[in-house]
Amino acid sequence: MQRQIYLDYNATGLPRPQVVEMMTAMLATGGNPSSVHARGRQARQTVERARAKIATALNCKPQEIIFTSGGTESNNTALRNNRAKSLILSAIEHDSVRAAAAVSGLPVSIVPVDRHGLVDMAALEKMLGESEMPVLVSIMLANNETGVIQPIAAIASLVHEKGGLLHCDAVQAFGKIAVDFRTLGADFMSISAHKLGGPHGVGALVIRESVPGSALIVGGGQELGRRSGTENLAGIAGFGAAVEIAVADLSGYAKLAAFRDRLENEIAVIAPEAQFFGAGVARLANTSCFAVPGLAGETQVMAMDIAGICVSSGSACSSGKVTPSHVIAAMAADGKSLSGSAIRVSLGWQTVAEDIDLLVKAWREHYQRSRTRSTQRAVE
Ligand code: PLP
Repeated sequence: MQRQIYLDYNATGLPRPQVVEMMTAMLATGGNPSSVHARGRQARQTVERARAKIATALNCKPQEIIFTSGGTESNNTALRNNRAKSLILSAIEHDSVRAAAAVSGLPVSIVPVDRHGLVDMAALEKMLGESEMPVLVSIMLANNETGVIQPIAAIASLVHEKGGLLHCDAVQAFGKIAVDFRTLGADFMSISAHKLGGPHGVGALVIRESVPGSALIVGGGQELGRRSGTENLAGIAGFGAAVEIAVADLSGYAKLAAFRDRLENEIAVIAPEAQFFGAGVARLANTSCFAVPGLAGETQVMAMDIAGICVSSGSACSSGKVTPSHVIAAMAADGKSLSGSAIRVSLGWQTVAEDIDLLVKAWREHYQRSRTRSTQRAVE
């Protein structure tokens, strides 16, 4: 049987075995963390232990962490449940930020990015001056498609200087680079377990202690009244375990840059016209996003899938339908024409050198086949 090569860690990380073990044990134990009896107290301890681990990893206070059902809910909570009178987003935010802003009922301004995918600071400063205060600015730490890392600490200083608040979607960054909530200076930060080897359906919103907030989901008053609903015990335990492992292995993650760079060098030899997005600036070590004019992202993904290799193109939504990438469209002068051509390769803890060799081989074959086909078409 063909070995499956998984190179789509930005879609979801492969679960760490210790996480599966921890979750299996917690599913078997059960208990409601809000119950006052012994079983409930044990469950509460499990939740608080995970919260403490995540707080240590993020350099925040445990009481600043609100467990949610994942990055999407965290982003919705931050954007739809604050005291802002207006919103500013970058042009490359995840759909969960864009869609939450669209239904917030607040005026929304979009700050552009440059050709490297970095937020235009001058444009942001101007928008801050023109926005109704208080404004909530939402800018991600690392982009899910390109891995490009924004200068969040500098953005936070600028936003605060002008009297605004900053939400940072750190879903892709957490577990891949060091993320220090205090140093970055955001007021809200979203994280998600499944992007770092934990389970799906659990995440957190970190809310700076001094920032007032109310709940998006109301009910029994769990999570300090900021997110009701019985906590996802096994999920939260798995999240804590995954964070501990990922944070201890950040240097291992950084080493993935060598695989990523080799991949890009080999693709550039095969297709000198290929464009590598964000290659000139700080980006996640595991992420490569590239495009070749005229080569559709979707067909590249299908060709790699036939070769047993899992990669992504564009922004996949829940229906599996692939839409042209708004991230690529926002970046390059010719971004619009390349937004349907980009593919994303994202490496992770199980990636080995041979995976890169096989990807390059499969991609070369696909590239040569499609070039032969377009030459034939031109002759006909
Ligand atoms: N934000 C970013 C940058 C993401 O990449 C994702 C997932 O793709 C999300 C938010 C949504 O997170 P979740 O899948 O946990 O809802």
